[in-house]
Amino acid sequence: MLKITDVHKSFGKLQVLKGIDLTVSKGDVIVILGPSGSGKTTLLRCINFLETADSGTLEFDEIKTPLNKASKKIISSVRKKTAFVFQNHNLFNNKTALENVMEGLVIGRKIPKTEAEEIAKKALDKVGLSDKYNNYPSSLSGGQQQRVGIARAIAVNPDVILFDEPTSALDPELIGDVLNVMKTLANEGTTMIVVTHEMGFAKEVADKVIFMDDGVFVEQGSPEEIFQNPKEERTKQFLKRILK
Ligand code: ADP
Ligand code: MG
Repeated sequence: MLKITDVHKSFGKLQVLKGIDLTVSKGDVIVILGPSGSGKTTLLRCINFLETADSGTLEFDEIKTPLNKASKKIISSVRKKTAFVFQNHNLFNNKTALENVMEGLVIGRKIPKTEAEEIAKKALDKVGLSDKYNNYPSSLSGGQQQRVGIARAIAVNPDVILFDEPTSALDPELIGDVLNVMKTLANEGTTMIVVTHEMGFAKEVADKVIFMDDGVFVEQGSPEEIFQNPKEERTKQFLKRILK
């Protein structure tokens, strides 16, 4: 369904992605973990053209394009197939939860307002916020805000959802609700690429875990392979650090 090949990206002299290959099949849950600064966010951003890679190719269903020379039309169709859940939710503070979820439907997908409202309500119901339609982000907890972010992503019915450390900015007691929503999506067959260090989540739902360091995929495998039996020294060291 989605395949990226030999992706490179530098910021000035800093090489951030050094030849990344990734294949994602429909229904896959891919978890990427790795130290801060290893290029995880940049990789997700290159996949949906929030960042322009220096080289590499993207294949996405019928689309095949170089990442550095994609036409506007291709960028727009890739964006329609993907949704992004950010580390810090990125909600509009002057819009209610419902309006935040409707925004992408009305503006991005040109869906009529009444229809968009129905879809947005269903998405908010799904993430457990049926009683918060009219709340502004400031009157929601961090976990609820993040769930609005997830509702916004699922509302547009994307082929793949990219999650960038969706729980890392949350207080520990708020993480569980967000992970539960993500687990439900995973169990329903949603295709997801998830940057997270939540090992419980990875063990429960990941089809593949990838350890990334210094712009490369160091090691990948099943959750058991990576967590119980890592082969590379760098993976072992990293796991030791996050398990502490
Ligand atoms: P991660 O998400 O794994 O923490 P990032 O992809 O955010 O890593 O960043 C990888 C490296 O690229 C870091 O050293 C970061 O400072 C640098 N970087 C990221 N975005 C930019 C940017 N827009 N301009 C310059 N450097 C950047
Ligand atoms: Mg990051």
